[in-house]
Amino acid sequence: MATATPPASRGPGPAQVRQTQLFIDGQWVPARSGRTFATVNPATEEPIADVAEGDAADIEAAVKAARAAFDEGPWPRMDARERGRLMHRLCDLIEAEIDDLAALESLDNGKPVADARAIDIPLAVQCLRYYAGWADKIQGSTIPINGNYHCYTRREPVGVVGQVIPWNFPILMVAWKWGPALAAGCTIVMKPAEQTPLTCLRLARLAQKAGIPDGVINVVPGYGPTAGAALVNHPGIDKIAFTGSGETARIIMRQAATSLKRLTFELGGKSPNIVFADADLDAAVAGAHVGIHLNQGQCCCAGSRLFVEDSIHDAFVERVVELSRKRRVGDPFHPDTEQGPQVDKAQFDKILGFIEAGKREGATCATGGKRHGTKGFFIEPTVFTNVSDSMSIAREEIFGPVLSVLRFKDSDELIRRANATDFGLAAAVWTRDVARAHDVARRLRAGTVWVNCYDVFDAAAPFGGFKQSGFGRELGERGLDPYLETKTVTVSLAPPGRG
Ligand code: ADP
Repeated sequence: MATATPPASRGPGPAQVRQTQLFIDGQWVPARSGRTFATVNPATEEPIADVAEGDAADIEAAVKAARAAFDEGPWPRMDARERGRLMHRLCDLIEAEIDDLAALESLDNGKPVADARAIDIPLAVQCLRYYAGWADKIQGSTIPINGNYHCYTRREPVGVVGQVIPWNFPILMVAWKWGPALAAGCTIVMKPAEQTPLTCLRLARLAQKAGIPDGVINVVPGYGPTAGAALVNHPGIDKIAFTGSGETARIIMRQAATSLKRLTFELGGKSPNIVFADADLDAAVAGAHVGIHLNQGQCCCAGSRLFVEDSIHDAFVERVVELSRKRRVGDPFHPDTEQGPQVDKAQFDKILGFIEAGKREGATCATGGKRHGTKGFFIEPTVFTNVSDSMSIAREEIFGPVLSVLRFKDSDELIRRANATDFGLAAAVWTRDVARAHDVARRLRAGTVWVNCYDVFDAAAPFGGFKQSGFGRELGERGLDPYLETKTVTVSLAPPGRG
Protein backbone atom coordinates (compact mmCIF):
# COMPACT_ATOMS: atom_id res chain seq x y z
CA MET A 1 0.00 0.00 0.00
CA ALA A 2 1.44 3.32 -1.07
CA THR A 3 0.66 6.42 0.93
CA ALA A 4 0.91 9.81 -0.66
CA THR A 5 0.76 12.71 1.74
CA PRO A 6 -0.66 15.77 0.06
CA PRO A 7 1.21 19.03 0.54
CA ALA A 8 0.33 20.93 3.71
CA SER A 9 -2.46 18.50 4.45
CA ARG A 10 -4.98 20.18 6.73
CA GLY A 11 -7.97 18.45 5.23
CA PRO A 12 -9.26 14.97 5.75
CA GLY A 13 -5.95 13.22 6.33
CA PRO A 14 -3.48 11.73 3.88
CA ALA A 15 -4.93 10.10 0.79
CA GLN A 16 -4.47 6.34 0.84
CA VAL A 17 -3.66 4.76 -2.50
CA ARG A 18 -4.74 1.17 -2.00
CA GLN A 19 -5.79 -0.06 -5.43
CA THR A 20 -3.52 0.28 -8.45
CA GLN A 21 -4.21 -2.95 -10.32
CA LEU A 22 -6.92 -3.87 -12.78
CA PHE A 23 -10.18 -5.17 -11.34
CA ILE A 24 -11.39 -8.08 -13.45
CA ASP A 25 -13.88 -10.76 -12.40
CA GLY A 26 -13.51 -9.80 -8.76
CA GLN A 27 -9.70 -10.15 -8.84
CA TRP A 28 -6.97 -7.52 -8.60
CA VAL A 29 -4.52 -8.33 -11.37
CA PRO A 30 -1.56 -6.67 -13.08
CA ALA A 31 -1.83 -5.77 -16.76
CA ARG A 32 -1.08 -8.77 -18.94
CA SER A 33 1.70 -6.73 -20.57
CA GLY A 34 3.16 -5.96 -17.14
CA ARG A 35 3.10 -2.27 -18.00
CA THR A 36 2.14 0.53 -15.63
CA PHE A 37 1.70 4.29 -15.97
CA ALA A 38 2.15 7.05 -13.43
CA THR A 39 -0.79 9.11 -12.28
CA VAL A 40 0.34 12.61 -11.33
CA ASN A 41 -0.66 15.08 -8.61
CA PRO A 42 -1.49 18.21 -10.60
CA ALA A 43 -0.82 20.48 -7.61
CA THR A 44 2.82 19.37 -7.35
CA GLU A 45 3.48 17.78 -10.77
CA GLU A 46 4.82 14.76 -8.88
CA PRO A 47 3.77 11.15 -9.49
CA ILE A 48 1.34 9.69 -6.97
CA ALA A 49 1.38 6.01 -7.89
CA ASP A 50 2.01 3.61 -10.75
CA VAL A 51 -1.20 2.11 -12.04
CA ALA A 52 -1.54 -1.04 -14.16
CA GLU A 53 -1.92 -0.04 -17.81
CA GLY A 54 -4.63 -2.13 -19.39
CA ASP A 55 -4.77 -2.76 -23.13
CA ALA A 56 -6.62 -5.02 -25.56
CA ALA A 57 -5.61 -8.25 -23.78
CA ASP A 58 -6.97 -7.01 -20.47
CA ILE A 59 -10.13 -5.69 -22.07
CA GLU A 60 -10.58 -9.16 -23.56
CA ALA A 61 -10.47 -10.71 -20.09
CA ALA A 62 -12.75 -8.05 -18.62
CA VAL A 63 -15.36 -8.43 -21.36
CA LYS A 64 -15.26 -12.21 -20.93
CA ALA A 65 -15.96 -11.81 -17.21
CA ALA A 66 -18.72 -9.25 -17.75
CA ARG A 67 -20.25 -11.42 -20.49
CA ALA A 68 -20.33 -14.49 -18.23
CA ALA A 69 -21.79 -12.40 -15.39
CA PHE A 70 -24.52 -11.18 -17.71
CA ASP A 71 -25.22 -14.38 -19.67
CA GLU A 72 -25.06 -16.84 -16.79
CA GLY A 73 -24.56 -14.94 -13.54
CA PRO A 74 -27.06 -13.91 -10.89
CA TRP A 75 -27.07 -10.15 -11.47
CA PRO A 76 -29.72 -9.76 -14.19
CA ARG A 77 -31.75 -12.64 -12.75
CA MET A 78 -31.89 -11.84 -9.05
CA ASP A 79 -34.83 -10.23 -7.30
CA ALA A 80 -34.61 -6.64 -8.46
CA ARG A 81 -35.03 -5.47 -4.87
CA GLU A 82 -31.82 -7.28 -4.02
CA ARG A 83 -29.95 -5.38 -6.75
CA GLY A 84 -31.25 -2.16 -5.23
CA ARG A 85 -30.25 -3.28 -1.75
CA LEU A 86 -26.66 -4.02 -2.83
CA MET A 87 -26.45 -0.61 -4.50
CA HIS A 88 -27.61 1.04 -1.28
CA ARG A 89 -24.98 -0.94 0.59
CA LEU A 90 -22.32 0.41 -1.79
CA CYS A 91 -23.56 3.91 -0.93
CA ASP A 92 -23.28 3.17 2.80
CA LEU A 93 -19.65 2.16 2.26
CA ILE A 94 -18.93 5.28 0.21
CA GLU A 95 -20.40 7.43 2.96
CA ALA A 96 -18.34 5.64 5.59
CA GLU A 97 -15.16 6.43 3.61
CA ILE A 98 -16.14 9.89 2.42
CA ASP A 99 -13.08 11.63 3.89
CA ASP A 100 -10.66 9.14 2.37
CA LEU A 101 -12.39 9.23 -0.97
CA ALA A 102 -12.47 13.03 -1.03
CA ALA A 103 -8.74 13.17 -0.28
CA LEU A 104 -7.95 10.65 -3.00
CA GLU A 105 -10.13 12.50 -5.52
CA SER A 106 -8.46 15.77 -4.70
CA LEU A 107 -4.98 14.29 -4.87
CA ASP A 108 -5.51 12.71 -8.29
CA ASN A 109 -7.66 15.42 -9.89
CA GLY A 110 -6.55 18.63 -8.12
CA LYS A 111 -10.04 19.78 -7.14
CA PRO A 112 -10.40 21.35 -3.68
CA VAL A 113 -10.94 18.58 -1.19
CA ALA A 114 -13.76 20.59 0.35
CA ASP A 115 -15.61 20.49 -3.00
CA ALA A 116 -15.02 16.77 -3.44
CA ARG A 117 -16.43 16.22 0.04
CA ALA A 118 -19.38 18.62 -0.23
CA ILE A 119 -20.35 18.33 -3.90
CA ASP A 120 -18.92 15.42 -5.87
CA ILE A 121 -19.38 12.57 -3.42
CA PRO A 122 -22.83 13.55 -2.07
CA LEU A 123 -24.07 13.91 -5.66
CA ALA A 124 -22.57 10.53 -6.54
CA VAL A 125 -24.28 8.87 -3.59
CA GLN A 126 -27.55 10.62 -4.44
CA CYS A 127 -27.32 9.26 -7.98
CA LEU A 128 -26.56 5.67 -6.93
CA ARG A 129 -29.36 5.72 -4.35
CA TYR A 130 -31.78 7.22 -6.87
CA TYR A 131 -31.11 4.38 -9.31
CA ALA A 132 -31.12 1.79 -6.50
CA GLY A 133 -34.73 2.92 -6.03
CA TRP A 134 -35.46 2.27 -9.70
CA ALA A 135 -34.18 -1.31 -9.68
CA ASP A 136 -37.58 -2.82 -8.77
CA LYS A 137 -39.65 -0.28 -10.71
CA ILE A 138 -38.53 -1.08 -14.24
CA GLN A 139 -41.61 -2.42 -15.95
CA GLY A 140 -43.35 -2.64 -19.29
CA SER A 141 -46.93 -1.99 -20.24
CA THR A 142 -49.90 -3.79 -21.75
CA ILE A 143 -50.94 -2.51 -25.15
CA PRO A 144 -54.44 -2.76 -26.64
CA ILE A 145 -53.55 -3.89 -30.18
CA ASN A 146 -56.02 -4.81 -32.86
CA GLY A 147 -57.38 -8.39 -32.80
CA ASN A 148 -57.65 -11.13 -30.24
CA TYR A 149 -54.23 -10.74 -28.70
CA HIS A 150 -52.63 -9.96 -25.40
CA CYS A 151 -49.73 -7.63 -26.14
CA TYR A 152 -47.25 -6.44 -23.57
CA THR A 153 -43.74 -5.05 -23.35
CA ARG A 154 -40.87 -6.15 -21.19
CA ARG A 155 -37.93 -3.91 -20.40
CA GLU A 156 -34.76 -5.96 -20.34
CA PRO A 157 -31.14 -4.99 -19.69
CA VAL A 158 -29.22 -4.10 -22.84
CA GLY A 159 -26.38 -6.45 -21.85
CA VAL A 160 -22.70 -5.79 -21.25
CA VAL A 161 -21.89 -2.11 -21.31
CA GLY A 162 -18.54 -0.44 -21.96
CA GLN A 163 -18.24 2.82 -20.09
CA VAL A 164 -15.52 5.37 -20.86
CA ILE A 165 -15.32 8.35 -18.54
CA PRO A 166 -13.32 11.58 -18.28
CA TRP A 167 -11.21 13.06 -15.50
CA ASN A 168 -13.17 16.16 -14.45
CA PHE A 169 -15.58 14.48 -11.99
CA PRO A 170 -14.11 10.99 -11.59
CA ILE A 171 -16.33 9.71 -8.75
CA LEU A 172 -19.46 11.41 -9.99
CA MET A 173 -19.00 10.05 -13.51
CA VAL A 174 -18.69 6.54 -12.08
CA ALA A 175 -22.03 7.03 -10.31
CA TRP A 176 -23.75 8.44 -13.41
CA LYS A 177 -22.58 5.39 -15.37
CA TRP A 178 -22.89 2.59 -12.82
CA GLY A 179 -26.22 3.75 -11.34
CA PRO A 180 -28.57 3.14 -14.30
CA ALA A 181 -26.53 0.20 -15.61
CA LEU A 182 -26.66 -1.68 -12.30
CA ALA A 183 -30.33 -0.90 -11.71
CA ALA A 184 -31.20 -2.21 -15.17
CA GLY A 185 -29.29 -5.46 -14.56
CA CYS A 186 -26.42 -4.80 -16.99
CA THR A 187 -22.82 -5.76 -16.35
CA ILE A 188 -19.97 -3.32 -16.81
CA VAL A 189 -16.47 -2.85 -18.15
CA MET A 190 -15.31 0.64 -17.25
CA LYS A 191 -12.26 2.51 -18.46
CA PRO A 192 -11.55 5.50 -16.24
CA ALA A 193 -9.55 8.42 -17.59
CA GLU A 194 -5.79 7.90 -17.53
CA GLN A 195 -5.38 11.14 -15.53
CA THR A 196 -7.62 10.01 -12.65
CA PRO A 197 -7.93 6.23 -12.19
CA LEU A 198 -7.58 6.03 -8.41
CA THR A 199 -11.07 6.67 -7.04
CA CYS A 200 -12.73 4.48 -9.66
CA LEU A 201 -10.56 1.59 -8.50
CA ARG A 202 -11.44 2.35 -4.88
CA LEU A 203 -15.14 2.30 -5.74
CA ALA A 204 -14.72 -1.09 -7.41
CA ARG A 205 -13.28 -2.36 -4.12
CA LEU A 206 -16.28 -0.96 -2.24
CA ALA A 207 -18.69 -2.52 -4.74
CA GLN A 208 -17.11 -5.89 -4.10
CA LYS A 209 -17.29 -5.32 -0.36
CA ALA A 210 -20.97 -4.43 -0.73
CA GLY A 211 -21.59 -7.86 -2.23
CA ILE A 212 -22.06 -6.97 -5.89
CA PRO A 213 -21.12 -10.28 -7.56
CA ASP A 214 -17.77 -10.80 -9.27
CA GLY A 215 -17.74 -9.92 -12.95
CA VAL A 216 -20.60 -7.42 -12.69
CA ILE A 217 -18.20 -4.46 -12.44
CA ASN A 218 -14.78 -4.61 -14.08
CA VAL A 219 -12.37 -1.66 -14.17
CA VAL A 220 -9.51 -1.41 -16.64
CA PRO A 221 -7.44 1.78 -16.41
CA GLY A 222 -5.37 2.60 -19.47
CA TYR A 223 -5.16 4.95 -22.42
CA GLY A 224 -7.90 5.83 -24.88
CA PRO A 225 -6.41 4.60 -28.15
CA THR A 226 -5.45 1.24 -26.59
CA ALA A 227 -7.76 0.18 -23.75
CA GLY A 228 -10.59 2.55 -24.75
CA ALA A 229 -10.54 1.57 -28.42
CA ALA A 230 -10.37 -2.15 -27.57
CA LEU A 231 -13.51 -1.75 -25.49
CA VAL A 232 -15.34 0.13 -28.23
CA ASN A 233 -14.34 -2.46 -30.83
CA HIS A 234 -15.06 -5.55 -28.77
CA PRO A 235 -17.91 -7.65 -30.20
CA GLY A 236 -18.89 -8.78 -26.71
CA ILE A 237 -19.95 -5.26 -25.73
CA ASP A 238 -23.57 -4.31 -26.40
CA LYS A 239 -23.47 -0.63 -25.61
CA ILE A 240 -20.95 2.15 -25.11
CA ALA A 241 -21.61 5.07 -22.76
CA PHE A 242 -19.03 7.79 -23.27
CA THR A 243 -18.38 11.15 -21.69
CA GLY A 244 -15.53 13.20 -23.12
CA SER A 245 -14.52 15.22 -26.14
CA GLY A 246 -16.26 15.50 -29.49
CA GLU A 247 -13.13 14.31 -31.31
CA THR A 248 -13.06 11.07 -29.35
CA ALA A 249 -16.82 10.65 -29.81
CA ARG A 250 -16.36 10.83 -33.58
CA ILE A 251 -13.71 8.10 -33.44
CA ILE A 252 -15.93 5.96 -31.22
CA MET A 253 -18.94 6.39 -33.51
CA ARG A 254 -16.95 5.31 -36.54
CA GLN A 255 -15.60 2.26 -34.72
CA ALA A 256 -18.97 1.30 -33.25
CA ALA A 257 -20.52 1.41 -36.70
CA THR A 258 -19.09 -2.04 -37.50
CA SER A 259 -21.07 -3.78 -34.79
CA LEU A 260 -23.89 -1.21 -34.53
CA LYS A 261 -23.37 -0.87 -30.80
CA ARG A 262 -25.77 1.36 -28.97
CA LEU A 263 -24.14 4.68 -28.09
CA THR A 264 -24.77 7.46 -25.65
CA PHE A 265 -22.52 10.50 -25.64
CA GLU A 266 -22.16 13.38 -23.23
CA LEU A 267 -19.76 15.83 -24.84
CA GLY A 268 -18.70 19.43 -24.66
CA GLY A 269 -20.42 22.76 -24.43
CA LYS A 270 -20.10 26.50 -24.80
CA SER A 271 -23.04 27.37 -22.66
CA PRO A 272 -24.61 30.83 -22.69
CA ASN A 273 -25.29 32.41 -19.30
CA ILE A 274 -27.66 35.30 -19.95
CA VAL A 275 -28.23 38.23 -17.62
CA PHE A 276 -31.09 40.67 -18.24
CA ALA A 277 -31.08 44.11 -16.63
CA ASP A 278 -34.09 43.28 -14.44
CA ALA A 279 -32.40 40.28 -12.77
CA ASP A 280 -31.50 39.95 -9.11
CA LEU A 281 -28.00 41.16 -9.84
CA ASP A 282 -26.40 39.90 -6.63
CA ALA A 283 -27.56 36.39 -7.44
CA ALA A 284 -26.60 36.76 -11.10
CA VAL A 285 -23.05 37.91 -10.28
CA ALA A 286 -22.60 34.89 -8.02
CA GLY A 287 -24.12 32.65 -10.70
CA ALA A 288 -21.84 34.03 -13.39
CA HIS A 289 -18.84 33.38 -11.15
CA VAL A 290 -19.72 29.83 -10.13
CA GLY A 291 -21.02 29.07 -13.61
CA ILE A 292 -17.56 29.49 -15.11
CA HIS A 293 -15.16 28.74 -12.27
CA LEU A 294 -16.65 25.68 -10.57
CA ASN A 295 -14.20 22.76 -10.77
CA GLN A 296 -11.45 24.98 -12.24
CA GLY A 297 -13.69 25.63 -15.24
CA GLN A 298 -13.49 21.94 -16.13
CA CYS A 299 -17.25 21.43 -16.54
CA CYS A 300 -18.88 20.46 -19.79
CA CYS A 301 -21.79 22.73 -18.82
CA ALA A 302 -19.61 25.72 -17.79
CA GLY A 303 -21.31 29.06 -18.44
CA SER A 304 -18.38 30.18 -20.56
CA ARG A 305 -20.28 32.77 -22.63
CA LEU A 306 -21.68 35.42 -20.31
CA PHE A 307 -24.22 37.56 -22.18
CA VAL A 308 -24.96 40.78 -20.29
CA GLU A 309 -27.65 43.29 -21.27
CA ASP A 310 -26.18 46.53 -22.51
CA SER A 311 -27.72 48.85 -19.88
CA ILE A 312 -26.08 47.06 -16.93
CA HIS A 313 -23.04 45.69 -18.72
CA ASP A 314 -20.20 47.75 -17.31
CA ALA A 315 -21.26 47.78 -13.65
CA PHE A 316 -22.16 44.08 -13.75
CA VAL A 317 -18.91 43.04 -15.38
CA GLU A 318 -16.93 45.02 -12.83
CA ARG A 319 -18.49 42.91 -10.08
CA VAL A 320 -17.81 39.65 -11.92
CA VAL A 321 -14.19 40.68 -12.43
CA GLU A 322 -13.86 41.60 -8.78
CA LEU A 323 -15.08 38.17 -7.66
CA SER A 324 -12.66 36.42 -10.00
CA ARG A 325 -9.82 38.53 -8.66
CA LYS A 326 -10.68 37.50 -5.11
CA ARG A 327 -11.02 33.78 -5.86
CA ARG A 328 -8.65 31.81 -3.63
CA VAL A 329 -6.39 29.69 -5.81
CA GLY A 330 -3.94 27.23 -4.31
CA ASP A 331 -3.35 24.04 -2.36
CA PRO A 332 -6.47 21.90 -2.89
CA PHE A 333 -6.03 20.48 0.61
CA HIS A 334 -6.32 23.86 2.29
CA PRO A 335 -9.88 24.19 3.61
CA ASP A 336 -10.26 27.76 2.27
CA THR A 337 -9.14 26.99 -1.27
CA GLU A 338 -11.74 27.63 -3.95
CA GLN A 339 -9.69 26.72 -7.02
CA GLY A 340 -7.02 24.08 -7.47
CA PRO A 341 -4.83 23.24 -10.45
CA GLN A 342 -6.00 22.10 -13.88
CA VAL A 343 -5.85 18.33 -14.22
CA ASP A 344 -2.64 17.99 -16.25
CA LYS A 345 -0.02 19.71 -18.34
CA ALA A 346 -1.90 19.14 -21.61
CA GLN A 347 -5.01 20.93 -20.32
CA PHE A 348 -2.89 23.65 -18.70
CA ASP A 349 -1.09 24.34 -21.99
CA LYS A 350 -4.31 24.25 -24.00
CA ILE A 351 -6.01 26.79 -21.73
CA LEU A 352 -3.02 29.14 -21.76
CA GLY A 353 -3.08 28.83 -25.57
CA PHE A 354 -6.72 30.00 -25.63
CA ILE A 355 -5.85 32.90 -23.32
CA GLU A 356 -3.10 33.99 -25.72
CA ALA A 357 -5.52 33.67 -28.64
CA GLY A 358 -8.04 35.88 -26.81
CA LYS A 359 -5.42 38.57 -26.30
CA ARG A 360 -4.22 38.28 -29.90
CA GLU A 361 -7.73 38.48 -31.31
CA GLY A 362 -8.34 41.77 -29.50
CA ALA A 363 -10.40 40.90 -26.40
CA THR A 364 -9.59 42.73 -23.17
CA CYS A 365 -8.16 40.57 -20.42
CA ALA A 366 -9.86 42.23 -17.44
CA THR A 367 -8.32 39.93 -14.84
CA GLY A 368 -6.10 36.84 -14.73
CA GLY A 369 -4.57 35.73 -17.99
CA LYS A 370 -1.58 33.76 -16.80
CA ARG A 371 -0.23 30.93 -14.72
CA HIS A 372 -0.69 31.14 -10.97
CA GLY A 373 2.56 30.42 -9.09
CA THR A 374 5.47 28.45 -10.47
CA LYS A 375 4.65 24.86 -9.60
CA GLY A 376 1.53 22.85 -10.35
CA PHE A 377 -0.92 23.44 -13.17
CA PHE A 378 -2.62 26.48 -11.64
CA ILE A 379 -4.19 29.17 -13.82
CA GLU A 380 -5.52 32.53 -12.66
CA PRO A 381 -9.29 32.97 -12.87
CA THR A 382 -9.57 34.90 -16.12
CA VAL A 383 -12.24 37.21 -17.50
CA PHE A 384 -12.21 38.58 -21.03
CA THR A 385 -14.39 41.57 -21.93
CA ASN A 386 -14.95 43.16 -25.34
CA VAL A 387 -15.33 39.68 -26.77
CA SER A 388 -16.99 39.32 -30.15
CA ASP A 389 -18.90 36.23 -31.27
CA SER A 390 -16.33 35.25 -33.87
CA MET A 391 -13.32 35.06 -31.52
CA SER A 392 -12.02 31.61 -30.67
CA ILE A 393 -12.61 32.23 -26.94
CA ALA A 394 -16.31 32.77 -27.73
CA ARG A 395 -16.64 29.75 -29.98
CA GLU A 396 -14.47 26.94 -28.67
CA GLU A 397 -14.68 24.97 -25.48
CA ILE A 398 -11.73 26.05 -23.31
CA PHE A 399 -12.45 23.78 -20.33
CA GLY A 400 -10.69 26.10 -17.93
CA PRO A 401 -11.29 29.15 -15.71
CA VAL A 402 -11.72 31.56 -18.63
CA LEU A 403 -14.89 33.61 -19.06
CA SER A 404 -15.87 35.48 -22.22
CA VAL A 405 -18.26 38.38 -21.66
CA LEU A 406 -20.52 39.44 -24.52
CA ARG A 407 -22.90 42.39 -24.66
CA PHE A 408 -26.49 42.23 -25.99
CA LYS A 409 -29.31 44.68 -26.64
CA ASP A 410 -32.53 42.82 -27.47
CA SER A 411 -33.96 39.36 -26.91
CA ASP A 412 -34.26 38.20 -30.52
CA GLU A 413 -30.68 39.11 -31.32
CA LEU A 414 -29.63 37.46 -28.07
CA ILE A 415 -31.36 34.14 -28.80
CA ARG A 416 -29.86 33.98 -32.27
CA ARG A 417 -26.35 34.58 -30.90
CA ALA A 418 -26.77 32.27 -27.93
CA ASN A 419 -27.87 29.46 -30.27
CA ALA A 420 -25.16 30.17 -32.86
CA THR A 421 -22.95 27.31 -31.71
CA ASP A 422 -22.57 23.64 -32.57
CA PHE A 423 -23.00 22.85 -28.88
CA GLY A 424 -26.24 22.65 -26.90
CA LEU A 425 -25.57 21.26 -23.46
CA ALA A 426 -26.74 23.92 -21.02
CA ALA A 427 -27.79 27.55 -20.69
CA ALA A 428 -29.01 29.92 -18.02
CA VAL A 429 -31.15 33.00 -17.93
CA TRP A 430 -31.38 35.58 -15.15
CA THR A 431 -34.48 37.78 -15.07
CA ARG A 432 -37.39 38.70 -12.77
CA ASP A 433 -39.84 38.60 -15.69
CA VAL A 434 -41.53 35.19 -15.53
CA ALA A 435 -42.85 35.29 -19.08
CA ARG A 436 -39.45 36.19 -20.47
CA ALA A 437 -37.77 33.45 -18.43
CA HIS A 438 -40.01 30.75 -19.90
CA ASP A 439 -39.88 32.22 -23.37
CA VAL A 440 -36.07 32.29 -23.43
CA ALA A 441 -35.93 28.80 -21.88
CA ARG A 442 -38.16 27.51 -24.68
CA ARG A 443 -36.14 29.14 -27.45
CA LEU A 444 -32.67 28.11 -26.30
CA ARG A 445 -31.41 24.96 -28.01
CA ALA A 446 -29.88 23.26 -24.98
CA GLY A 447 -30.49 20.12 -22.94
CA THR A 448 -30.66 21.99 -19.64
CA VAL A 449 -31.79 25.57 -19.01
CA TRP A 450 -31.35 27.05 -15.56
CA VAL A 451 -33.48 30.06 -14.61
CA ASN A 452 -32.05 32.30 -11.89
CA CYS A 453 -29.61 29.57 -10.88
CA TYR A 454 -26.66 27.67 -12.30
CA ASP A 455 -25.17 24.18 -11.94
CA VAL A 456 -28.17 22.81 -10.08
CA PHE A 457 -27.96 19.05 -10.49
CA ASP A 458 -30.28 16.40 -9.17
CA ALA A 459 -30.20 12.68 -9.90
CA ALA A 460 -33.91 12.83 -10.78
CA ALA A 461 -33.52 15.47 -13.52
CA PRO A 462 -32.25 14.34 -16.95
CA PHE A 463 -29.04 15.85 -18.29
CA GLY A 464 -27.56 15.72 -21.79
CA GLY A 465 -26.97 17.58 -24.98
CA PHE A 466 -28.70 18.98 -28.03
CA LYS A 467 -26.66 19.17 -31.25
CA GLN A 468 -22.97 18.24 -30.92
CA SER A 469 -23.12 18.13 -27.14
CA GLY A 470 -24.18 14.50 -27.41
CA PHE A 471 -27.16 12.23 -27.52
CA GLY A 472 -29.08 10.20 -25.02
CA ARG A 473 -29.74 11.46 -21.52
CA GLU A 474 -28.21 10.63 -18.18
CA LEU A 475 -29.96 10.89 -14.81
CA GLY A 476 -33.66 10.71 -14.15
CA GLU A 477 -35.98 8.11 -15.63
CA ARG A 478 -34.70 9.00 -19.12
CA GLY A 479 -31.22 7.96 -17.99
CA LEU A 480 -32.39 4.35 -17.68
CA ASP A 481 -33.57 4.12 -21.29
CA PRO A 482 -30.15 3.57 -22.89
CA TYR A 483 -29.55 0.60 -20.57
CA LEU A 484 -32.81 -1.13 -21.49
CA GLU A 485 -34.18 -2.92 -24.52
CA THR A 486 -37.92 -3.01 -25.06
CA LYS A 487 -39.31 -6.40 -25.98
CA THR A 488 -42.84 -6.67 -27.35
CA VAL A 489 -44.62 -9.95 -26.60
CA THR A 490 -47.80 -10.71 -28.52
CA VAL A 491 -49.90 -13.67 -27.40
CA SER A 492 -52.77 -15.04 -29.43
CA LEU A 493 -55.88 -15.42 -27.31
CA ALA A 494 -57.59 -17.72 -29.80
CA PRO A 495 -58.50 -20.95 -28.03
CA PRO A 496 -56.25 -23.91 -29.01
CA GLY A 497 -57.33 -25.58 -32.25
CA ARG A 498 -59.18 -22.52 -33.49
CA GLY A 499 -55.89 -20.76 -34.52
P1 ADP B 1 -10.32 14.90 -22.77
O1 ADP B 1 -9.78 15.70 -23.90
O2 ADP B 1 -11.25 15.64 -21.89
O3 ADP B 1 -9.29 14.12 -22.01
P2 ADP B 1 -11.07 12.57 -24.22
O4 ADP B 1 -12.26 12.41 -25.09
O5 ADP B 1 -9.73 12.53 -24.85
O6 ADP B 1 -11.34 13.90 -23.42
O7 ADP B 1 -11.08 11.49 -23.05
C1 ADP B 1 -12.22 11.04 -22.37
C2 ADP B 1 -12.08 9.55 -22.17
O8 ADP B 1 -12.04 8.92 -23.44
C3 ADP B 1 -10.80 9.11 -21.44
O9 ADP B 1 -11.10 8.01 -20.61
C4 ADP B 1 -9.91 8.69 -22.59
O10 ADP B 1 -8.91 7.78 -22.23
C5 ADP B 1 -10.92 8.06 -23.53
N1 ADP B 1 -10.49 7.94 -24.93
C6 ADP B 1 -9.64 8.74 -25.61
N2 ADP B 1 -9.48 8.30 -26.88
C7 ADP B 1 -10.25 7.19 -27.02
C8 ADP B 1 -10.52 6.26 -28.10
N3 ADP B 1 -9.97 6.40 -29.27
N4 ADP B 1 -11.38 5.26 -27.85
C9 ADP B 1 -11.99 5.11 -26.66
N5 ADP B 1 -11.75 5.93 -25.61
C10 ADP B 1 -10.90 6.97 -25.77
